Parts: sequence; structure tokens; C-alpha cells
Amino acid sequence: MTRNDDVSIEPFFLGPKSENEYWVREKIQSVLDHWFQWRKSLFIEDPPAIGQSQLESGDYKSKRDTITQTLSELNELLKAETPKYTPRYIGHMVSEVSLPAILGHFSALLHNPNNTSKEVARVGSLIENQGINLLLNLVGFEEKPGRGHFTSGGTVANFEAIWRARFRMDHWLSLALFLKAERHQDFDLFRSSHMGWDKYHSLVSQHGIDFEKSRKYSLAAGNPWRVSNLISQETSTDFEGPIMLIPGNKHFSWQKGCNLFGFGEEALWSIPLDEQGKLDCAALKTLIEKAHRESRPIIMVVSVAGTTETGEIDPIHKVQDILDNFKKENDWDIWHHVDAAYGGFMCSLCHNPQKTDGVVAKEQLSALKGISRSSSVTLDPHKLGYIPYSCGAFLVPNEQNYAVSKFKAPYLNQEEIDHDKWSCTIEGSRTASGAAATWLTGKTLGFTSEEFAQLILDSFLACRHFKEELEKECPFIYPLHPTETNILCFSMAEEGDTLSTSNKRTSALFERISKGPNFAVSKTVLHKKDYVKMIDSHVTQFSGESDDEYLYLIRCVFMNPFWRNPEIGKKLRSEFIKEVWAHKKEIHIS
Ligand SMILES: *Cc1c(COP(=O)(O)O)cnc(C)c1O
Repeated sequence: MTRNDDVSIEPFFLGPKSENEYWVREKIQSVLDHWFQWRKSLFIEDPPAIGQSQLESGDYKSKRDTITQTLSELNELLKAETPKYTPRYIGHMVSEVSLPAILGHFSALLHNPNNTSKEVARVGSLIENQGINLLLNLVGFEEKPGRGHFTSGGTVANFEAIWRARFRMDHWLSLALFLKAERHQDFDLFRSSHMGWDKYHSLVSQHGIDFEKSRKYSLAAGNPWRVSNLISQETSTDFEGPIMLIPGNKHFSWQKGCNLFGFGEEALWSIPLDEQGKLDCAALKTLIEKAHRESRPIIMVVSVAGTTETGEIDPIHKVQDILDNFKKENDWDIWHHVDAAYGGFMCSLCHNPQKTDGVVAKEQLSALKGISRSSSVTLDPHKLGYIPYSCGAFLVPNEQNYAVSKFKAPYLNQEEIDHDKWSCTIEGSRTASGAAATWLTGKTLGFTSEEFAQLILDSFLACRHFKEELEKECPFIYPLHPTETNILCFSMAEEGDTLSTSNKRTSALFERISKGPNFAVSKTVLHKKDYVKMIDSHVTQFSGESDDEYLYLIRCVFMNPFWRNPEIGKKLRSEFIKEVWAHKKEIHIS
């Protein structure tokens, strides 16, 4: 477990003491110079809009003074902003952002493109397509413009997936229902809902479908209550609607999505987790069979790469194997979305497997590689892509699944997808800054490069090193296992403590660390409803009774690139341990 000194990443970050300040000043100045020059070089014949006498007037001066003062006020306020650039910040999924990202973001910002349409973003939309290609390549999808777009974050990217998976199923189901009601064809609810595009297209051409006539059979484009009743009639059962299969380690955007798309929370079927807090494949298989038995079509199956609470990676490849098998055996085509908002950038390890020996398990690499076989992916460049907010991304490998957000056009042609994005994005106006930041970072630091893989690997190592030392020096600290990536969760307990007592201790420790100026950590609460196996196994470490409904944990996210500096790592680890000991002496809970 040593870092690779041959690969330097330091030129890509400002540094906690602004070590790269002079170079950055020069680059920011060059962006400004370019901006000024751009204006001066176009429409040279036009008269100046602001005259010299105005520039020198008293009114001008007083208004500028107001702006200057208010700007100072803002800067003064920002002094109290959470310092997320320092390696002492191990709180949430945010840290130092990369220099190419800041420069790209800033350059695009000054030109103010709106990527909703090429008319207002001639260059912005081009950069978006190229930026998306860099991300498609990262996760192992074929690079092809228009098979994804940037969003304001992972939440909206997850909604993009639900929107499309819902509409895709609706195309298939409404066609089958139309054929049953008007052409007296056989109707099998579950089978029709997962018929696949090939079958769909062959039925459309075989029966010469008029979309205006079939619209009334659509749950999305018609009246969903009337269509539901019709399905109940045709199947002689009570149609209870479709479901989504989502693991218990999910981000809360999935509940929001379920609500927004009108499914009701009952439709969110939770896939149980194993002892490591990962999606349990056997349980998934059972739930798919149950959905079939109960005639509940499956909108999508979700797996998570890098869970928000603990950073673990679900067995994505095995989930896809299960779905491939259902396709082979039963001809059910089921949408698999990977929520890789946090862990998607860990795919850089798959491009540099030689670096991962002894640090990353083969199984984890296989899971990350499995993303390339899925139906759609959420990525958050504003997390492990080191891009400023707000920048998420939604990707699909198959264009039929991309532009499926309209009833009439089951899919647009490539040219249409490639043109204006507004018709197939949930958001309307969209910034190009995130795209430009991703583009510049991807083309310099690279997302599949040795440098980027090193950055990710170093974050794993920083986490592990911290965990080992903390565990060794503080016998009352119990890390949550397995801690396979760069998030460490731990609780505080005395031997024999019950879970509820340990929860109280951990919460008291969190309050104390948070009040102090030295480190920023976060907390998380895992509930037995989802994490029962993981919690029970955690409690056996201090052999107490598992008498609470939840496990309270302190959570540390090791994203900051400068933990790789041995001097910084050593100093901060020992300071943290000292601080934990000092707090422990003041926490009296029995
Ligand atoms: C952060 C996160 C999200 C939500 O992303 P936002 O960018 O905060 O909207 C979704 N899923 C997972 C797994 C995440 O970690």
C-alpha cells in the first residue's frame, strides 16, 4: 500500500495553501483577456455604447463604488463558507475541485451558453457532446454523440432514467393493449410490458399502427386511471400498477422520483441488502419472480456504484447476469439503471488495472466493468469528477432508450437527438459550464488516465490508512466493514455496549468533533429496515445487544487529493486520534 510517486496530480489542483497561485492567476487573466478581445473583435463597425465622458462621470463612480462595496461584503461573507478545499474536510461528497474544471467552468460562464438549444449554444452544445463522449468512454459505453446529457446533478439524472424507462414500458404495454382491445390479439400483461424493441417494431409494422388511435391505451399519454381499469378488465384481475426494484442502500432521490412520476411509494420495492450493505442478488431474483406472479410490470431495476452512505459498490455485473438470464429464458427485457452518481469515476480503475493490485478486489473491478452492460447510468461529475457544482450526467448506450420521452416518436433518429436537446431533457435551460469543466478536465487530467486512476486509488488508500490507524490507536472505535472504497463509517462503543448505548456515544462524539474547528466529518444513520444484516454484524464487534432500530455512524469521505502527501496524512491522522481521545474523556454515557 504505497502511493506511486511517478504519477503527479499536483499540477491539477490549486493546493491547500494556493501553491499554484501564480500560474492560476495567469490562466484566469488569459481567460479574461480572451473574453475582452472576443467582444472587441466582432462587429467592429458598431459605435461604442458607452462614451468616455460617461466613464468619467460622478454617477458612474458612485455606482461602481456601490458594486465594489457590495462585492467586498460578499467576499467578507464568504470567509465563513465551509472550507472544503482542505484535507481536514472529510465531511460530505465534496472536496477541492480541479483547476481545469474551474478554468473550463469560468470560460464557458463568460460566454453564457444555454445548452437547451444549438441556437443559443453553438459551441456549448458541441462541447456537451464531446464531454458526454468522454464519460461514455469512462464507463465503457460506445462513444456516440447524443447518448446522454449533463444535468444539474445526480437527482435529476436519476429522474431522467425513470422518465425513459416508464415511457419505454408504456410504448410496449399500450401497443399490446391496443392490439388486444381493437384487434383481438392475445394479451399477457407481464410479457407485453417487457417485450423489447424488436418485438415492438415488428408488431408496429405488422399491424400498421396509428399512434393517434393507440394513444388512449397509454398510461403516460392517455388517462392512466381509465387505462388501469381497462387492463384490469382484460386480465380479469385488479391491476395494481408497475413497480421499481431498488436496493435498500439507495439515495433518497429514488423516493422523490417515485413520487414525482406518480407511482406511489408502494411501487418502490426495496431489494434487501447483504452483510456488506450491498444489493442481495438472490433476493433480487425472488422479487422479480414475485412481480411476475403478482402481475406487476417492472419499470426498472436499480443498482448502485458507490452508495451515498458507505461508498460500497453493488454486484452490478451479477445483477446484469440475472437480467440477461431472464431475457434468455423468458424473453423479458428489463431496464437496468446504475446509479453511479458517486462511484462512476472509479471506472478509471478498470482502464488501469495494473495499478489496482492489492488495493481493489477483482470483484469490485468486475462490478464496475458491469456498468458497461447496463441500460442507463447516472454520474455526478461534481462529486468524484472534481468538477464544480452543479454538474450531473445521464448516459445511455442505446439511442432507442434515449429519445423515448415522447409518445409519438418511439425514437428519434440520430440527427434529431444530436440537434436540440430540449425535447429530450427534463430540464429546460441548461448551463454549458459543467460540460466545459468536464471537457477540459477530461482532456487534460483525463478520466481514464493513469493520473486519474491514481487520484482514485490514493483516495481509497487514504481511507484505509486512516481506518487502520484509528482502529489501532482507539480501541473504542469500531469501523463499519468492509470499507472498500473511500468512505469510512465508524461508531464508538465500549465492550459489551448495547446498540442504543453505542449510538448515544457516537452521536456525542459527532457533536463534539463538529463543534470544533479542526475537522469536518458527517454523520449517517443506517436503519434496520434496510441494513439489518450489516448492523447486526457490526454490533457483534463489541458483543452488545442489538436493541435499537438504527445504527448511528460518523462518516468520513476521503476525496481530497492531498491526503496522498505523506506528511499531511501523518499529521492529520495523529491529530484526529488525539482529538477523539480528548473527546472520549468527556463523554460519560452508561
Ligand atoms: C449524490 C447522489 C445522488 C444525488 O445526486 P445530487 O447531485 O446530489 O442530486 C444520487 N445517487 C447517489 C448514489 C448519490 O451518491
